[in-house]
Order: sequence, then C-alpha cells, then structure tokens
Amino acid sequence: MIAIIGAGLIGLSLAYELTRRGGEVRVFDVGEAGGAASWAGAGMLAPDTEAPPSSAMQRLCALSLDRYPAFVKGVRADSGIDPRLHLDGILHIALTANDSERLRARVAASVAEGIPARWLTRGETVALEPSAAGNVIGAALFKREGHVDNRRLGRALRAACERQGVGISAHCGSIAIESDARRVRGLRTTDGFLAADVVVNAAGAWASMIDGLPEHARVPVHPVKGQMLALAMPRGLVRRALWYSDGYVVPRDDGRLLVGATVEDVGFDVRVTADGVRTLLDAVLRALPALRDLALVETWAGLRPGSADGLPYIGFGALGGYAVATGHFRNGILLAPATATMLADIIEGKACVVEPGPFSPQRLADPGNRMTVPA
Ligand SMILES: Cc1cc2nc3c(=O)[nH]c(=O)nc-3n(C[C@H](O)[C@H](O)[C@H](O)COP(=O)(O)OP(=O)(O)OC[C@H]3O[C@@H](n4cnc5c(N)ncnc54)[C@H](O)[C@@H]3O)c2cc1C
Repeated sequence: MIAIIGAGLIGLSLAYELTRRGGEVRVFDVGEAGGAASWAGAGMLAPDTEAPPSSAMQRLCALSLDRYPAFVKGVRADSGIDPRLHLDGILHIALTANDSERLRARVAASVAEGIPARWLTRGETVALEPSAAGNVIGAALFKREGHVDNRRLGRALRAACERQGVGISAHCGSIAIESDARRVRGLRTTDGFLAADVVVNAAGAWASMIDGLPEHARVPVHPVKGQMLALAMPRGLVRRALWYSDGYVVPRDDGRLLVGATVEDVGFDVRVTADGVRTLLDAVLRALPALRDLALVETWAGLRPGSADGLPYIGFGALGGYAVATGHFRNGILLAPATATMLADIIEGKACVVEPGPFSPQRLADPGNRMTVPA
C-alpha cells in the first residue's frame, strides 16, 4: 500500500502511474484535488524556453515533454476528459534590437544542441501570429514546445485515478506521518491509522511542513508566488503561446487568454495585488498592443514549490519507506509524467531512464551543496 500526501498534478500523476502498474494507492489532500499550483499554473510545456538549470534537468524536462502525448492519450481514454494538449511551438517575440540579438543567440545555441528552433523574420512572425504585428521585429520559434490545460488535466487525472480504484481523500483534515527511528509506518488521518509500505510527500510548496516528519527528513521547499490574469479573446486572436521579455500569454480553447506571471518571494500569500495586475497588464500591452480592448475576466495567484537548488526532489528521503516528489518550481506541469515514471521506477527498485542522483532528496544533506534558487 502506497500513501501519497498531496493531490496536485505530481501526486495524481504518480498515483495514476503506480495503479497502472498494479499498485494499491491512496491519496490525501487537505484541499481540492488538482487545486493549488496545479490549478494556478499556465500549463506551458517549455523545456527549451525555461532554460533548465542543469543538463540533468534538461534531460528530465525533454523526456517529460516526449512522454506528454502518450500520457494525455491514456488519461483522456481513462477519464473521458480531454486535457487539450497543443504542441505547436512557443514563439518568443523580439521587440528591441537587444531582444533580437539575445534570441538569435538562443536559437543558434539550441540548434547546436539538436533542439528544434528557428529564427523568424518580422514577416514570418506576423504570418504565423498576426496578433504580434504591433511592435515585433522578429521571433524565435521553439518548435517542439506547447501547452496543456492544467485545470482540465487535474480533473482528468482525478477521474482516471478514481476509475482505476485509487482512493482520493480531498479535504481530508489533518494528517501526520507516523514513523519509528528507521522508517515510516503509515499515516495518522482523521479516520485513524493507515499502515503504508511507502509514504510519498507530494505536498508542493507545503512539503516541508508535513506533521510528524522528523526534522532530518524534511526537504527545503519554499513558496514562490505567481499572479496571473485572463483576458477574453475572440477565437483564434492569439494562436499559440507567446513569450516576450517580461511575460507570456497562453491561449485556452475556451476563449481565455492567460497572461503570466509574477515571480515573488513573499511566503504563503496568495492575494492578487494591484501592483501584480498592473505589472502583468503593462508588460502584455507593451508587447501586444492589439489586446488593449479585451475584457479582463479572471485574476488568481498560486505558489510554486521552490527547491534549494532549482531542481526537484524525486526519490527516497532520509527515512525508510519515505519518498518525496516536490520542488518542481516553474516546471511541475511539464515534469508530471517523467516524475511519475521516475519515482514509480525507484519505488519498484527498477532502473530509471534518467540518472536519478541529481534529483535525490538527500543530495542537500551537506549544506555546502546548497545553492540559491535561480530567478
Ligand atoms: C502562476 C504559475 C504559473 C505556472 N506556470 C507553469 C507552466 O507554465 N508550466 C509548468 O510546467 N509549471 C508551471 N507552474 C508550476 C507548476 O504549477 C507547479 O510546479 C506544479 O503544479 C506543482 O505541482 P504539485 O503537485 O507539486 O503541487 P501543488 O499543485 O501545489 O499540489 C500540492 C498539494 O498538496 C496539498 N497539501 C499541502 N499540504 C498538505 C498536507 N499537510 N496534507 C495533505 N495535502 C497537503 C495541497 O492542498 C495541494 O493540493 C506554474 C505555477 C504558478 C503558480
């Protein structure tokens, strides 16, 4: 029996993978399944855009992107809910000579690494994305990237898990890990004690605060706030995800255009602020003046789980039977399928496709190994 704490995209993807392999899984969440950061995110699948902080992370991100079509196909078939995956590229628009120089260099470096990318002239950019016509002087197209509707993916994963027999306890009240000196024994829930062979901590930005965890088994995770908003756009006005130097837009099939995102180190604060909204609107209207008259239909904020060195924690922690899957920061939606496969392999004692060492929750046991989180 495997108990997972946290029903975000990471916890649910792992539950889905483990039950497909025949495991018995229960998931507990103090809030809504598929809520928190997994609901608040933009859903971009952007390993090339986000420039991962290490080659190990680059490999994990690329592997996860490769897995996405099959992952979504399975979840859609098992749930009847389409998470609306689009892999039609992400366009980085250049508005200044500096942008252009920087992006051309990124394209050249990416192509040298075998990443499918291309520089587009202004004419080519506008033909592909007429909404960018305003101030654009060219663009970098990262061809294999795209986006998924993470809110729909959360609903789909929950339904697919439940159909496969995963017990999901949302709004579960307080839970605590029970352990002896060497290993976890299970979870203390409001319904009593639940024995578990493995307990997985997938509690996102709250992962270091789980009750009952001995101090030495806690991984350093901190919340990084992101505010976003949505505009209502005529169908097809913006066709694909677009980046500009200080933000991005992502179109949804329901006619919303997501505008993101702030990156703020302000603790567990999920208020939408006047300054946050102004920052997002100033940036998007500078880049895409054609959006000026669109209605503002939604604002929200979420907490990215930041790790101490910018890499996620995936693997067994400093206590027998205790595993961790968190710290995915800005890439948790992208990394959900690869995290699930990797941790399921580790739990089953199988070899992983990507070397797991760099992601081990125990890598930071020596404080000298800690670095600051890249912005
Ligand atoms: C504004 C914004 C934009 C983003 N954009 C992108 C993007 O474009 N692409 C991308 O890949 N990533 C993006 N991210 C990052 C991504 O959303 C996260 O990395 C990912 O959702 C983390 O998933 P998770 O399951 O680890 O955490 P969460 O989704 O936060 O889930 C953690 C769960 O644990 C539960 N929990 C907490 N404490 C307890 C407890 N004690 N007991 C039980 N349950 C508990 C919470 O209720 C929550 O449901 C974005 C994030 C934000 C905020």
